[in-house]
Amino acid sequence: MVNEYLNFLENNSSNSHESDQKIILTVNDLTQYFYCPRKFYFLRVLQVPVVAPSKMKLSAQRVHEQEARRNKYRKKSIYGFDPDEIITLQHDVPLFSARLGLKGIADVIIEVRRPLNVQVQNDLFSRQVIPVDIKYTDRCVVRRQWRIQLAALALLIEEDHVMGNIKITQGIIHFSRQRTSVKVPITTVDGKQVLETLKKLRELYHQERMPKAVSSRKCSYCEVHRFCFRDL
Ligand code: SF4
Repeated sequence: MVNEYLNFLENNSSNSHESDQKIILTVNDLTQYFYCPRKFYFLRVLQVPVVAPSKMKLSAQRVHEQEARRNKYRKKSIYGFDPDEIITLQHDVPLFSARLGLKGIADVIIEVRRPLNVQVQNDLFSRQVIPVDIKYTDRCVVRRQWRIQLAALALLIEEDHVMGNIKITQGIIHFSRQRTSVKVPITTVDGKQVLETLKKLRELYHQERMPKAVSSRKCSYCEVHRFCFRDL
């Protein structure tokens, strides 16, 4: 998939800018873009000064610490898996791909044994690596931008080789408040969408035009609404 993207960039080099590869995007940029392209434009292109409320930062940090503590004592199930199936479990794993110009942090990466009824031919296929993203929300609904976030983390884990030579086909959204884990398939279509969106984000860097606004329902929750000319 990554090679496909790089070939795509090369084949379209006349339309791309030399500096494109030097722009390091983040997984959070992708999430913001799917929330509203204009929000990405304000945050990353215009770099408006937005400071996340300290309460929000603190609660996110607490949720992550709480999850790490809980995982030490979980005996029945860890993100839907029997603890005996878990080979390794890592928290807050930094990921980076120079080739993609992308970086991010995986809340959790788990490595599990394949189910016993699967024929295991060699070690390459004897385990599954799964990125887990922790959410603290009122409703257990997997949003589109979170699927993309998981797909981007999966690409980064594959590309970074942080877990060896693996193919990731599944991620998990864990709703910390409800203590519920939802398995999310990661397909090649999702991966392709990540790669195409990275290209769009880089194009936005070179455009003078501000992207269109989204539905006003999102604006009241948006951190950059005071910079946006949209009428609320
Ligand atoms: S205020 Fe609304 S239109 Fe403006 S960036 Fe935020 S979500 Fe997008």
